Amino acid sequence: MVQINDNFLKLPGSYLFSEIARRVAAYSAAHPEKALIKLGIGDVTLPLPQAVTAAMHKAVDEMATASGFHGYGPEQGYAFLREAIAAQDYKARGVDIAPDEIFISDGAKSDCGNIVDLFGPDNKVAVCDPVYPVYVDTNAMSGRAGVYDEKSGKWSNLVYMPCVAENGFMPDLPGELVDMIYLCFPNNPTGAAATMDQLKPWVEYANRTGAILLYDSAYEAFITTPGVPHTIYEIDGAQTCAIEFRSFSKTAGFTGTRCAYTVVPKALQRGGASLNAMWNRRQCTKFNGVPYVVQRGAEAVYTPEGRAQVQANLAVYQNNAKVIREGLAAAGLTVSGGVDSPYVWARTPDGVDSWTFFDRLLQEANVVTTPGAGFGPSGEGYIRLTGFGQPDATKEAVERVKAVIR
Ligand SMILES: *Cc1c(COP(=O)(O)O)cnc(C)c1O
Repeated sequence: MVQINDNFLKLPGSYLFSEIARRVAAYSAAHPEKALIKLGIGDVTLPLPQAVTAAMHKAVDEMATASGFHGYGPEQGYAFLREAIAAQDYKARGVDIAPDEIFISDGAKSDCGNIVDLFGPDNKVAVCDPVYPVYVDTNAMSGRAGVYDEKSGKWSNLVYMPCVAENGFMPDLPGELVDMIYLCFPNNPTGAAATMDQLKPWVEYANRTGAILLYDSAYEAFITTPGVPHTIYEIDGAQTCAIEFRSFSKTAGFTGTRCAYTVVPKALQRGGASLNAMWNRRQCTKFNGVPYVVQRGAEAVYTPEGRAQVQANLAVYQNNAKVIREGLAAAGLTVSGGVDSPYVWARTPDGVDSWTFFDRLLQEANVVTTPGAGFGPSGEGYIRLTGFGQPDATKEAVERVKAVIR
């Protein structure tokens, strides 16, 4: 009889977004006349830049011709896209990353999840708390997390690094030795961005101990503060200890189109092996590449028109985040994030818990947020709001929240 991977049985239900949906549906059913504004969404809302769709149309037409047809492409992605990324996301920032260190994929979520294939079962895994749940659940599925304790909301074998107001939402180096360290900056959910000085100790730690940094940079495009690094490889020594995940999802509106990439430097060796060679082997075995049409669309992000259109869309989200941040601060809430990030992280007033404040905003302001506790124990006492909504609705939502908490 077949044996299942019983690590799956240890996973708690994915409670957060289903519970939000349940509470929103119940409220709407009881109050059908109330128009809710959703500031909980973690998805973009603006259409794809015109330069992207034009490139995709052109690629579709090519596919309809004998000479322009593309079958299986390179598993690692087409050279035209890898070269554009190497030149514009790295070289232009003074960082030498070669095209064959860049692997195009269908998503940073998949890559963050799949990367665990490269690492042994006994590694100690450290995650920020609060956290993007993918890092935790994929390690649980592959048997590295131990057992989940409902009461504490923690897995027995994971090392949780609290990111709270007291440490400026930057994790402290773990007190015990760890092997796989997930960092995400600008952070989802807190919206905190990391400076060069804040990242340097992590690179130093990983090189010194032989650990690996798994650096999720999905929100890099939202960085506006001068001096905040756009890639972990701006830190000296990162090429011997870090894998970086990037995505066109939040950058260029590709959440439904699907394109991302992962950088595995050739200088990155562990256990006597090249992680670049291992990831290449893994991708060639389990992945057949991203559609040609989609990669042509992603390439257009790097054209002058594409860049301008992407920046215009980002400016809308950035301004929404600013409106939320400044509005809630003016109303007396303690807020952070929302500067180099679409996410604003707000302390609940009077120490009420995340879900209580969520309910209050839902019922009294008719605004949907995300309770911080859903991202981990240290998210308790916070809510997350996002700049991905419509500008007018965002302004209206902030006014409603202000009226409620005043
Ligand atoms: C949205 C998001 C991603 C992007 O995932 P895709 O699969 O590329 O859409 C990755 N990491 C974090 C933290 C995110 O919030």
